[in-house]
Amino acid sequence: MSMPLELPTRQLIVQKFGGSSVSDAAGIKRVAQRVVDNQRAGHEVVVVVSAMGDTTDELLDLSSEITDSAPAREMDMLLSAGERISMALLAMAINQLGSKAQSFTGSQAGMITDGIHGKARIIDVDPHRVRTALDKGKIAIVAGFQGMSRESNDITTLGRGGSDTTAVALAAALDADVCEIYTDVDGVYTADPRVVPAAKKIDRISSEEMLELAASGAKILHLRCVEYARRFGVPLHVRSSFSHHEGTWVLPSPEDKITVSEGVALEQPIISGVAHDRSEAKVTVVGVPDTPGKAAEIFQVIADAHSNIDMIVQNVSTHGRGSTDISFTLPIVEGADALDALKSAQDRIGFESIEYNAEIGKLSLIGAGMRSHPGVSATFFKALADAGINIDMISTSEIRISVVTRADLLDDAVRAIHSAFDLDAETQATVYGGTGR
Ligand code: ADP
Ligand code: ASP
Ligand code: MG
Repeated sequence: MSMPLELPTRQLIVQKFGGSSVSDAAGIKRVAQRVVDNQRAGHEVVVVVSAMGDTTDELLDLSSEITDSAPAREMDMLLSAGERISMALLAMAINQLGSKAQSFTGSQAGMITDGIHGKARIIDVDPHRVRTALDKGKIAIVAGFQGMSRESNDITTLGRGGSDTTAVALAAALDADVCEIYTDVDGVYTADPRVVPAAKKIDRISSEEMLELAASGAKILHLRCVEYARRFGVPLHVRSSFSHHEGTWVLPSPEDKITVSEGVALEQPIISGVAHDRSEAKVTVVGVPDTPGKAAEIFQVIADAHSNIDMIVQNVSTHGRGSTDISFTLPIVEGADALDALKSAQDRIGFESIEYNAEIGKLSLIGAGMRSHPGVSATFFKALADAGINIDMISTSEIRISVVTRADLLDDAVRAIHSAFDLDAETQATVYGGTGR
């Protein structure tokens, strides 16, 4: 009797395709072929899809033509539709290629969340229907970015960019070998290649550094996806759906530290990259009485409005004596609620006025060992000064320096810092698709 042929190693792979990878029928067919090729190579494949192209933004625009105060539940019903369109079309395209596929909404795939519409958190994943589909030799397609509230059974969404988190949560629940995030660039770069064409691709990055980049606004990965991958030890491979190049591996365990190449002094700061963020606005509370407890009152009001504050600066007021100005940044999408809440507390707290500016941008330099290297700040601020960029706010941590600038100067600032820290590559990065919206 002859020995059976050795089968190729069978892996369970979760593959997530972002909006630009499925922006039209041709894109969906291209993705379908790629998925089918993987299955035919002997793997079990679960696919998570985002809404086609800029569909989510278009749905948001459409709703704002109708109302500026849409009920959060209805907004989630609307936005979750985008991913349903992609999942069904992709399943059709795969069936057309002769393989079997079955699509699932987030709730059918067992994505159970809390009830906070628009930024729901996953609290349980029960992918038994996905597992059954795989056992029947099918490719399972899951709509990203959505789940179902445990309390109300209503449809929820996970926040912008949340399909990455759907993918990693499924990968963890199914004990997948790898979670591949397919997008429109070849991986994670030292800066957004749309802004810095000389950005360098990073081959391997620790989850700590990736967390900091994502938290600072590098939208290549959803922050909660990186947190989830680290917590559950899921290896992430970020790569392009438009090429077959090896992408960036985000290494989940703390032992997988970046390897410092020989000859580089171990105590040099290791700069991982520059992130930028246009999604925040700056609020200044002018003329706050300079007495203990006033900052606490202001931030309690903001917390009660469920707003996430980022940078905070308190300065001596130019508007009079005995009072200060407090500035902070928060997501633009939370701005209106926060301002309403502050206005209704104005008399009680006793401040003079509120200023709001959404035309700001935040730049962050991320790297290990920055605080202990005075040279880093000197180089950083000199580069901005040479580029003629005025700084509005500053914050630092052990591994990050962030500044707020005028929004229209942000791209120049990112390029200046990228060059100043010698991150520029000789070759230009490729951006394959997408509108950058
Ligand atoms: P998808 O639709 O695939 O989820 P996103 O638009 O959410 O894609 O994320 C990919 C985009 O992230 C890239 O096209 C790029 O412009 C941007 N980006 C921002 N920072 C980085 C970075 N450090 N490395 C690579 N891409 C980045
Ligand atoms: N479609 C959603 C968004 O545009 C989710 C995602 O793409 O990850 O934010
Ligand atoms: Mg994304």
